Amino acid sequence: MKILLINDDGVDAPGLWAAARALRQVGDVFVVAPDRQQSGVGTALTLHAPVRVREVPAQTYLAEDGDAPNSVTVYAVEGTPADSCVLALESIVGSVDLVVSGINPGSNLGWDVMVSGTVGGAVQAYVRGFPTVAISVGAVQNPHLEVAAQFLQYLGQRLRDDPPDSSYFLNINVPNLAVDQISGVQVTRLGDRSYGESVRQESAGADKRYWIARNRPIPGNPAEDTDIWALKNNRISVTPLRPGMGGSEDMGDVELFLGDLPTRLLGRRD
Ligand code: MN
Repeated sequence: MKILLINDDGVDAPGLWAAARALRQVGDVFVVAPDRQQSGVGTALTLHAPVRVREVPAQTYLAEDGDAPNSVTVYAVEGTPADSCVLALESIVGSVDLVVSGINPGSNLGWDVMVSGTVGGAVQAYVRGFPTVAISVGAVQNPHLEVAAQFLQYLGQRLRDDPPDSSYFLNINVPNLAVDQISGVQVTRLGDRSYGESVRQESAGADKRYWIARNRPIPGNPAEDTDIWALKNNRISVTPLRPGMGGSEDMGDVELFLGDLPTRLLGRRD
């Protein structure tokens, strides 16, 4: 089995290596990850500059392990998570059996998946038809990575031994708890906004400078079938994603809203 592993926290991130060690039990792991922190870049691609890639010896990150059943190969990409995913699948690695993005420190819930580099990079795997998993733990500082890593290993084995008929895109969020404190595993839908932004101004001589932080929890009572509810209730959330943004239920209302605008624009009835 060939597994591509990407992330948005950079190739040095502990979450990436917790995932690599777990997935190595299942198949050959190809780490193709940004060479620096890229959290929050969403689906961004580098289209107006060349993207440099360098191979890094796996021993830089993994102790030599003669008993390890599978290989780990590592590339550091001077680009975004989505760059890493595209370069891996189109050129460096080619076709794989599974793409994993993470393990991200900090949850990626609700509409905020659109900001997430963890999910945004993984979109490039899903649109190419590969089974895709984005995985996060609900703490930015000192995340417990063991449960998420174990989940990845079992999920990889399930996919290898008993593959489903379609390629799912799963967004998994794990509460930052030890395994005996976790109440369950729940398949969910995306909730609404989970975190809002706050902006802080900073004086730097004549420059106007601002810091954007995503640290304002959105108040409200999330529905019980959402990812936000599941995580608040100490459950692991597994959300099947469809990256389309189509709001087809609004088509009729938008026709009404446009009214005679098409006729006026074209100078005749359309
Ligand atoms: Mn991140």
